[in-house]
Amino acid sequence: MSRVRCSTCPRGCLLASGDVGACRARSNRNDCVVPSGYGRLTALAIDPIEKKPLARWRPGSTILSVGGYGCNLHCAWCQNHGISQAGEHEVTWREVMPEELVSLAQRARQEDSRMVGIAYTYNEPLVCWEYVRDTSVLAHERGLSNVLVSAGCVSEQVIAEVVPHIDAANIDLKSFRADTYRRLGGDLPTVLNTIQMLCDTPTCHVEVTTLVVPGVNDTKDEIRELSAWLAQVDTNVVLHVTRFHPSWRMRDRGPTPVSEVYALAETAREYLQYVYTGNC
Ligand code: SF4
Ligand code: SF4
Repeated sequence: MSRVRCSTCPRGCLLASGDVGACRARSNRNDCVVPSGYGRLTALAIDPIEKKPLARWRPGSTILSVGGYGCNLHCAWCQNHGISQAGEHEVTWREVMPEELVSLAQRARQEDSRMVGIAYTYNEPLVCWEYVRDTSVLAHERGLSNVLVSAGCVSEQVIAEVVPHIDAANIDLKSFRADTYRRLGGDLPTVLNTIQMLCDTPTCHVEVTTLVVPGVNDTKDEIRELSAWLAQVDTNVVLHVTRFHPSWRMRDRGPTPVSEVYALAETAREYLQYVYTGNC
């Protein structure tokens, strides 16, 4: 039986007919890889923009935040594992095609002028990047903005498809160590390339989040290297240094001490102008 390779992310799943990829959101149908999670939403909520988190883009606004299911990474601490790890959990979804989602956002804006658009978030939206692209194009046509919240571990071609339609993005930079990314099923150079591409796009505001997980990425050396790299991409890039809380399969350690989060943020400030702490 012939198999087809998915080129969306560095995992490069080889899928036989009927197979579902490691992200659970793409499948081989009739010898083509298709986004089987397209339009299948699991979460829909209006959130303050600061919750994405975006600290320096349209402060005080709100955004219609949508999630589907699936993720190409498998972080043991995932707060949204109920939808991101769809292979391990039963997921309930409802079909909302781009036209309907944009109409919902327009209605929400009519009710509240602080509502600025749609955020693709909660799980990894780019495993169904076609849905992000198609909805974003429509949203722009109707005067709405688009926000992407992603781990950024996807191919350059995917980023090139979506970036013209994205107004602001928050990308997780989970670690500055290749082996840490490998353990999560991801690839550090791919994520760095995504951040670089977004920062090179003048129409896209970029913020980055690093969740500090005790014993995983909490050394000053690592935060220093990460911040120095971000600074040479753009000293104005915003970095959120956030606090881990035990979740899903990582309950063998306590939350990151608040003092440690503050100290690592200070280290990052040696290189970057805009550093925020979160979950403290
Ligand atoms: S996007 Fe999904 S199916 Fe495609 S290579 Fe990545 S994990 Fe595999
Ligand atoms: S990348 Fe995000 S959504 Fe995916 S498993 Fe990790 S924390 Fe969860």
